[in-house]
Amino acid sequence: MGDLGHLFRSAAEHAADYRTSLSERQVGVPVDQVALTDAFSGPLPSAACPPERVLADLIAAAEPGLVASAGPRYFGFVVGGALPAATAADILAAGWDQLATNAVTSPAAVAAEAAAGDWLKELLGIPASASVGFVTGAQAANTAGLAAARHQVLADAGWDVERRGLLGAPPIRVIAGQERHGTIDRSLRLLGLGTDAVHPVSAEPNGAIDLESLRAVLRAGSSGPTIVCLQAGNVNTGACDRLREACELVRRHGGWVHVDGAFGLWAAASPATRHLVDGLELADSWACDGHKWLNLPYDSAFAFCARPDVHAAAMSYSAAYLVGSGGLPAGADLTAESSRRARGFAVWAGLRELGSLGVAALVERCCELARRFATGLARAGFEVANEVVLNQVLVGFGDDARTDRVVAAVQADGTCWMGGTTWRGRRLMRISVSNAATTEADVDRSIAAITRLAG
Ligand SMILES: *Cc1c(COP(=O)(O)O)cnc(C)c1O
Repeated sequence: MGDLGHLFRSAAEHAADYRTSLSERQVGVPVDQVALTDAFSGPLPSAACPPERVLADLIAAAEPGLVASAGPRYFGFVVGGALPAATAADILAAGWDQLATNAVTSPAAVAAEAAAGDWLKELLGIPASASVGFVTGAQAANTAGLAAARHQVLADAGWDVERRGLLGAPPIRVIAGQERHGTIDRSLRLLGLGTDAVHPVSAEPNGAIDLESLRAVLRAGSSGPTIVCLQAGNVNTGACDRLREACELVRRHGGWVHVDGAFGLWAAASPATRHLVDGLELADSWACDGHKWLNLPYDSAFAFCARPDVHAAAMSYSAAYLVGSGGLPAGADLTAESSRRARGFAVWAGLRELGSLGVAALVERCCELARRFATGLARAGFEVANEVVLNQVLVGFGDDARTDRVVAAVQADGTCWMGGTTWRGRRLMRISVSNAATTEADVDRSIAAITRLAG
């Protein structure tokens, strides 16, 4: 089997060297996608290749196309940089090669998920009795949460959706904000509810739902099966729906509340921002990412459900050979996967590395650095187009064409990387501060580059 130790060590060493280089490396680099694809392609080899050679070829082919998104001056999308212990744990998870389906296939993986799940609930202020499915991303977490919702609202109407499907089922009304994330719509499509089921709730200027509009939409309908999707952390502005008031309105009417809190739910982990998600514990299900603001490696997210029985009824499957999966639902019972990798080790390691104070400090520091961006860019004469409540900042540089040119120039320059977005009909630069390694100096250097390029 060759020298496995040497092979694994050189892969880990290479990854470490790469990661260490990120703080000084060009963030955006011009990429020749055709050359990159050429480097990977060619006829399918018929002969075996020594692993060391495979690794060297892979590194050579991939390096020119790697994005320094784990580095401290990447502010595109909502992207963190995986924490050291969490990354090392993921390297171990790959090496251990565990099947995290249940406690028979990997007792350690299930135990790590159980412990990490308890820690996550405590940090986020989600009831300790909730179930936690360790899923691939908030997309999958939204799907699991909405599947649980679909189960319960139809069960309340006397319909067993897992057995009978949706043909002939009572119609479900899905109430969701106008500024919901696009993954909500995909989850609704996958669950057979369809996007036409959405009754949109209008948004306040910052993107949070308008409570009067929610009240009106709730009233306008019958008391039939109703699912309400709320959001913590609008992907443009960071705005959070007023969860307490919204949940109380829904409770009076009847219905299931799902909260998409992919990154914004982390506001709960700091006393400085907790008020933004006040009342989150009143919801029925929650989606939250690990691989965004918590700075865990991809793929890592959490599907929480206040009713573990409902969660498992919607998601679990059983087969005669799945011995030992009895007892509390765990592992694959709470996700849409059967065979799955042991992503709980990295979650446990990341939380252990930071501690609760470290998670709070991470959230506070990112918010503070977002405000630093806003203040600095406003002082340089540019328009900050949102109220900076969390880690997201929107900036305008004049008309749409000019803003797009500035965004393109910043991306080409390579000091830092920000994306563009359309918000309320305008093109804007979108800055997301989500990386645990970003410093004030990184922000100041980025502001200087933007100011220079926009001038
Ligand atoms: C990023 C995001 C998602 C999707 O999360 P993935 O981890 O990419 O699947 C869903 N909702 C919101 C609000 C997000 O920011």
